[in-house]
Amino acid sequence: MLDQVLKKYEIVIGLEVHAQLNTREKLMSAATNDFGKGPNTSVSTICTGMPGALPVLNRNAVRMAVECGLALECEIQRKNVFSRKHYFYPDLPKGYQISQYDLPYAKGGRVEFYMNNEKRIIPLQRIHIEEDAGKNLHLDTQGISLVDLNRSSVPLLEIVSEPEMRSPQEAAAYLKALRLVLRYLDICEGNLEEGNFRCDANVSLRIRGSEKLGTRVELKNINSFRNLERAIEYEALRQYEALEDNQKIVQETRLWDANKNQSISMRSKEEAADYRYMPEPDLYPLHLSDEFIESARSRLTELPIRKIERFILSYSRSAYEAEVLCSSRELGSFFEEVAQKIKDYDLASNFIMTNILAKISNLEKEMRDFYPDASALSDLLNEIKQGNLSLSMAKDVFDIMVAEKRPSKEIIESQGLSQINDEDLITKTVLDVMNEFPQQLRDFRSGKEKLFGFFMGQCQKALKGKGNPSVLKKTLEKQLK
Ligand code: ADP
Ligand code: MG
Repeated sequence: MLDQVLKKYEIVIGLEVHAQLNTREKLMSAATNDFGKGPNTSVSTICTGMPGALPVLNRNAVRMAVECGLALECEIQRKNVFSRKHYFYPDLPKGYQISQYDLPYAKGGRVEFYMNNEKRIIPLQRIHIEEDAGKNLHLDTQGISLVDLNRSSVPLLEIVSEPEMRSPQEAAAYLKALRLVLRYLDICEGNLEEGNFRCDANVSLRIRGSEKLGTRVELKNINSFRNLERAIEYEALRQYEALEDNQKIVQETRLWDANKNQSISMRSKEEAADYRYMPEPDLYPLHLSDEFIESARSRLTELPIRKIERFILSYSRSAYEAEVLCSSRELGSFFEEVAQKIKDYDLASNFIMTNILAKISNLEKEMRDFYPDASALSDLLNEIKQGNLSLSMAKDVFDIMVAEKRPSKEIIESQGLSQINDEDLITKTVLDVMNEFPQQLRDFRSGKEKLFGFFMGQCQKALKGKGNPSVLKKTLEKQLK
């Protein structure tokens, strides 16, 4: 659909991401950061904007923010300042959000990922800390709107990219990679559908080869990766048609409607001056000490992109396989443990990718108590390596292990599942089958080679499916000649 657009124009995309931090308390108050409860139950005088209530900055939120900044290789600003961002909306009783403006805590940085086996690096402009607003609930059938302030003052990071993405797919890959970093750091749930990880996409077109950026449109209300791609595609086409029709692009904010697969204009784009930004007088500028920053650094675990690159190099995985295996920290360590235990990286990777991923949807939580664990799975895969089980028998055993939470040895013994490797027994079976089917034997010997499969099948039937496939194949080839 975009081919026509891309012949003449380049799509320019920059993303603004809001990530809710999973701290215990809110950013500016001691109310609990858990807004799944009844409306207006996790609130304090700060969240409800009572006059005279004073904000107190949550140290833990700052610690998470700094970890995120370090992980994304930003320059951490030792001194940073909170500002008031004014606007009117019923879910914002104070009339302003406490945010950061000209002195954010982190500048620059980058998000790295692989796309179609190629490394991409998208530079960041900045990250700042701000508080979330409450939520309006519109009960259309009853003709009323209600306000729930549980979300008010929940800590957010706003992560702003440079306009360096060039396709809807690249924007989605960036967003996934960013989410993975936050999940590895365990500071944000990263769920677009639930709104704890939100993304606005800025989109413009420019004639190929031109340096100057076109007028951008901001897309809001994107609640899935698929919708991000669709919304950008729709917007690129819309701008293309307007430009080809000699119309000017209006800088505006548009709302994506996933049901109708289209966007509608919400408002013309506000300028910074509209917000009447000013330094927050109730909070001192924040000074981050070297000690604080270093202690955040010491908490960093290996980041997804580093793990992916290590899996490519040390375990000879393709970029795609490495990405899948690193799609959660837990899965990555699981693979590594199995791979090292059985010393067969291909088997470990293939078995995990085809069997484990089919059984697990939440790769963080479910992985932790998944059975078979790495050691039990290694035992099973070692049975394949030692020739005791064929791959297909191992899959059956694996299914039983998952269902009954029992080790492979027990299942193999109780079901008499061990593979038959005994060459004498296999040869005897082959000869018996040849005697039983003289006509097929003659046909095979006079050139009907397709019948080889028939003999394999008959032998396996006689061996109850347990014959070692490669030994059986070799023996058959020898005897049938
Ligand atoms: P605001 O907060 O008012 O939306 P910002 O300057 O913070 O403005 O920019 C927001 C986002 O818009 C950034 O991610 C940036 O990369 C992106 N952006 C800026 N100019 C363009 C453009 N011409 N086309 C596409 N994206 C752009
Ligand atoms: Mg914006």
